[in-house]
Amino acid sequence: MNPYRRAFVDVLHSLDNAARAAGRPAAARLLAVSKTRTAGEVAALAELGQKAFGENYVQEAAGKIAALAGLGLEWHLIGHLQSNKANEAARLFDWVQTVDRPKLATALARHRPDGSPPLNVLLQVNIDDEASKHGCRPDDIQALAEAVAAEPRLVLRGLMAIPAPHADPERRRPAFARMRGLFERLRESHPQADTLSMGMSDDFAVAIAEGATMVRIGSALFGPRPPKETA
Ligand SMILES: *Cc1c(COP(=O)(O)O)cnc(C)c1O
Repeated sequence: MNPYRRAFVDVLHSLDNAARAAGRPAAARLLAVSKTRTAGEVAALAELGQKAFGENYVQEAAGKIAALAGLGLEWHLIGHLQSNKANEAARLFDWVQTVDRPKLATALARHRPDGSPPLNVLLQVNIDDEASKHGCRPDDIQALAEAVAAEPRLVLRGLMAIPAPHADPERRRPAFARMRGLFERLRESHPQADTLSMGMSDDFAVAIAEGATMVRIGSALFGPRPPKETA
């Protein structure tokens, strides 16, 4: 018996319900966040039909991507990327959701192997203007989008955000709504951008109501993560 079947079915069900409640024609895409999970745990979820997985750290992802290379999975980097890791990230991942400066876009483009399809890119936006958070300012989106669009080895797919934490997910609604406005504006100049990545285990219903097309869900699928060793 697959240990994740129940949670997987429940999450897919919730995504359908959230789309219906929001009057949206299609459910948001599910990105299963597999940080701290083993390759075996990822394989168990993949067996149920889940294809897209998100990882926070290049090093941690590398082993799992190699171990599961035969499964045809799609890997997304959702953690902050240092420029000195761009080389490895551009080879390993299908998507990088955390591009927040032109220099990083250039480095990813330079290192994307010729034999691979263009790397899918989301621009990470620091939507609550938190000093502690990565991501570009909303005012910088347009210039960053141009920098990505100018690179033939990259394809601009949209925006990603992690709103400020609040015990009550409803308090994140205004940030999600601002992201939707920024996404719609981006699409005026870059109509191929089709992805707004926002919403996690505790707030995906609110994010979908406000326009998320992709949600990033870890603990609701895999169970709670062990506490972090380092802050
Ligand atoms: C860990 C993580 C998630 C998933 O969080 P859960 O609360 O486990 O669903 C989503 N997005 C990012 C960027 C993360 O780091």
